[in-house]
Amino acid sequence: MKSYKYLIIASCLGLSLYFVYSWITRVPDKIVESVSITDIYKYIQPDEYNKDLLVIFDIDNTVAKTPTELGSDQWFTAKVEQFQTQGKSLLQAIDLTLPELFHIQFHSWLIPVEKQTISVINDLQSKGVSVIALTARSLELTQRTIEQLSRLGIHFTKTDPYECPLTHGHGHGKAGLYIDGIIFSGNHNKGEMLTSWLNKISYHPKKIIFIDDKLKNLQAVETAVHKRDYPFIGIRYGYEDEAVRNFTLESVADDERAFLTEHPFENALITP
Ligand SMILES: [Mg+2]
Repeated sequence: MKSYKYLIIASCLGLSLYFVYSWITRVPDKIVESVSITDIYKYIQPDEYNKDLLVIFDIDNTVAKTPTELGSDQWFTAKVEQFQTQGKSLLQAIDLTLPELFHIQFHSWLIPVEKQTISVINDLQSKGVSVIALTARSLELTQRTIEQLSRLGIHFTKTDPYECPLTHGHGHGKAGLYIDGIIFSGNHNKGEMLTSWLNKISYHPKKIIFIDDKLKNLQAVETAVHKRDYPFIGIRYGYEDEAVRNFTLESVADDERAFLTEHPFENALITP
């Protein structure tokens, strides 16, 4: 009887020590705020500039943006909300807005969000860091996005750890696609897409840094990579926050009219 008692006490002690050890040695989650792309360097140790470090960039309002706010994320959101206030469902509102978004993107080039953005990406790549992009852009914009980034001098193919296109999630919504160093998340959250891609290519980074202007995307990735033995650092990038906050559809009404005059769009809901 006595030996049972000792066994139970020893087991409890062992379990307690295991939990204390796990807590002390666990890799802490970290999501930080930043308004400068160069802050990425704060989270990279000198000996981490190699392929085991994976740096992931969101595209819109993180790496690049449209020259006016026409066709921007904030424009898209405002358009969708406008349709919803007119009685459309969210899906109907999105379906009504996407054709014009595609039209604008197919006739627009992008500009970098900050003047250092391109050099930071190129610098990380030149130091051998694995660099990819992870975007919620529609798959209809796949090739156009690659063209737009290429014109800026951004090529995610330089140090992406896998060459061939890969898809994820056929059968439930739009599949996600990985091509030329860019993961297009389709109808899936960014966390699900990232872990699917990591598993498919059997790539095991020693650290992930993900920079995105939307907290929900950082949280999705943080949750998805939670069971890991490497650090994850999410950077919630707020350089465009003020522009997003102050945006109204009226503020781009003139740009929209001018754009549609130059590039007529048969489904345009605003006639020039
Ligand atoms: Mg974004």
